[in-house]
Amino acid sequence: MSELTSRIEEYYATLRTKAEGRAERCLERALQNPSFSEVDRSYQKTRIAYLRAEAEYPERLEQLEQDFTAVRRKRAGLLQEMGLKESDLVPSYTCPRCRDTGFLENGSACSCYREALRRFKLEEIGIASEAFASFDDANKRLVPQINYDYYRVKYCGRFPKVPLSTVFMGSTGTGKTFLASCIAGELEKKGKNVYFLSAISLNRFFLQCFEKESYRSLSLLTDCDLLIIDDLGAEPVYKKVTVEYLKLILDERFSKKHPVLFTTNLNREKIFERYSERIYSRIFDEANLDENNLFQGEDLRTKKR
Ligand SMILES: [Zn+2]
Repeated sequence: MSELTSRIEEYYATLRTKAEGRAERCLERALQNPSFSEVDRSYQKTRIAYLRAEAEYPERLEQLEQDFTAVRRKRAGLLQEMGLKESDLVPSYTCPRCRDTGFLENGSACSCYREALRRFKLEEIGIASEAFASFDDANKRLVPQINYDYYRVKYCGRFPKVPLSTVFMGSTGTGKTFLASCIAGELEKKGKNVYFLSAISLNRFFLQCFEKESYRSLSLLTDCDLLIIDDLGAEPVYKKVTVEYLKLILDERFSKKHPVLFTTNLNREKIFERYSERIYSRIFDEANLDENNLFQGEDLRTKKR
């Protein structure tokens, strides 16, 4: 078992222990009350009889249902006197779908498992993950120049058949990062593996790789379905590290037809100056870039039909 897998198992075990432990403690407390203890025994017996009635003795079903309802009501009343609810005695799982196991009854991974996996992988490379935004919230915090539907339908709808390089350019406050986060959220809902990280975190990670001379974790960034690099240009550029590793990641991803999305306050000229022609030519390669996906802050309205 990999270290990552065992960490995730431990995570789920902790969640289960928490949910189940709380329910057990409430039940223990309630059972200290002799009246409750007696009613609870009768409740369990009636419940089992009622559950079996349909298949085994249907003629008694109606009577058993009445008995069960009566004893259940009595039990709930006693619980209430102790300041408890029926629901306190059953585990309240963080994810009711998989009961905090990470897996569904048919054996497939629960959506929460994929989310946990992503978070743990990011943590492994020293990047804290955050929840993505949703297009559903986009209409509420309307940035008039952004055509959200265009990205929801044309970009997310066609993903992964999208341009390999997409660049959201524009000054601060134009909603680039929010839009990128909406895309990440939408794709994640579709089960895609999206990594969203700031250029500063990415650069810090590159430095770690460089210092340890380790390329192992880089595969996390080259293999995910979509890599979003937020705020390119905010990080300090170390020629031997930033540019080299960025080039490596882009080459690897583009050769596998895995898209990259950037947001940046820089314009094309600044990107050229800062990262050299080698990065510039990759990001803005006509073969990779679809001009229709160029988000230019306020210019968007005039660019879009
Ligand atoms: Zn789950």
